[in-house]
Amino acid sequence: MSFTQFDFHPKIAAGIKTCNYETPTPIQAKAIPAILEGRDILGLAQTGTGKTAAFVLPILQRLLKGPRGKIRTLIVAPTRELAEQIHSDITKLARQTGIRSVAVYGGVGKFPQIKKIRGGVEIVVACPGRLLDHLSDKTFNLAKVDHLVLDEADHMFDMGFLPDIRRILKYLPGDQQTLLFSATMPGEIRHLAEDILNDPVRVQIAHSRPTATVAQKLFSVEHNRKTSLLKDIMAKTDMAATLIFTRTKHRAESLARQLHKAGYAATSLQGNLSQQKRQQALNGFKRGQFKVLVATDIAARGIDVSGISHVINYDVPDTVDAFTHRIGRTGRASCTGEAFTFAGREDGKIINQIERTLGKKMSRNNIPGLTEEISFRKPSGEGQPSKKSWHKAKKNGRPAGRSNGRPAGRFAKPAVAEKQEQPPARHRKAGSRQKRRRRAALLESRSGTLFLNP
Ligand code: AMP
Repeated sequence: MSFTQFDFHPKIAAGIKTCNYETPTPIQAKAIPAILEGRDILGLAQTGTGKTAAFVLPILQRLLKGPRGKIRTLIVAPTRELAEQIHSDITKLARQTGIRSVAVYGGVGKFPQIKKIRGGVEIVVACPGRLLDHLSDKTFNLAKVDHLVLDEADHMFDMGFLPDIRRILKYLPGDQQTLLFSATMPGEIRHLAEDILNDPVRVQIAHSRPTATVAQKLFSVEHNRKTSLLKDIMAKTDMAATLIFTRTKHRAESLARQLHKAGYAATSLQGNLSQQKRQQALNGFKRGQFKVLVATDIAARGIDVSGISHVINYDVPDTVDAFTHRIGRTGRASCTGEAFTFAGREDGKIINQIERTLGKKMSRNNIPGLTEEISFRKPSGEGQPSKKSWHKAKKNGRPAGRSNGRPAGRFAKPAVAEKQEQPPARHRKAGSRQKRRRRAALLESRSGTLFLNP
């Protein structure tokens, strides 16, 4: 199969060639014809499948006809990094078409965004909070939008953005083509899809198995030996570009500092940084100035850096989806990669779930003096964390809870956002989680600081 079958305009075909895409990925093969026909799409696929080009290419083809200089496509994404990534893909694919896009998100000045939009753009790629700011300020309107894309809808839901999405929908004409992409389908997203999609074509790409080109290794290790183990592995392994995931912003920052001191070109990407610093870290990693990037899940979501040879789970994530997403940063577009996961006793349950999803066991690796024998069988025992165990867990960088490795009580809902250490439920003020999440998301999009998992 080749891209010629879609009969793209030569200016779009030139963009495909510039990106060196030869064969459509499965999601592109399924979604492009339906989008070209003007159908709504419900796409069950995650980043790493070629999803962005799957919606950008047919939208560009449709935008070639019709007026220029008006906002005719709105793409809504949960994070600034993903918005930037989509905008940058559009810029490459649309280079010859004269179609322009702008990324709109909080944490940076509004005026340059307004100036760019007033200069004439056809595509706006936006995060919900800042977009609503602009819409209520009436700096631009969405009356001429023909295509709406909601990307990573499940992640927007996790971040408390669903009420904002519904508010944004009120600014749209209502008869636009709508494409909704989500890696998972929680009830709330299904309801949203039922409300806003008109007889959608369902495009599902098996998403739950990380790419087969990534070799998986598991190291059983106590918390206090993780950094020594990491340095040992890094010294012995030939690594091109390495992405390390930690559970909290603080750990990302401090680990990057320790690696820098140890002589590695390392930096961190986490929500304590200003947007400018985040972009500098990401660009430096993309250019090869930094060989090691230590990141939290939220900051790294959607990042597309080619040539990542290693992903290291310094802390095991809480959900299989987050694991799949992390691992998807390497082995992209059929390149090979290695993924190392550091797990302690408390990670037993999630390791079991991950291995069930992988369909095989990760290879166990022992480094005498650093790793230890742990059998990841289903442990027993559960309960709310005590004040003492919470403080101990906080020191170790993970929320206290059931001894089976999954958080309890207020932590029980899998959070894809960066962990903000919290006291046990009884030590916290009462209030609706939805309200807190929403407030945090608004604060994040407006102030540029991440207040996650409030
Ligand atoms: P995405 O899922 O949109 O984040 O894309 C994942 C990666 O695959 C990006 O680096 C894209 O540039 C790349 N990609 C997208 N489509 C293709 C294709 N047809 N052939 C090769 N690489 C692709």
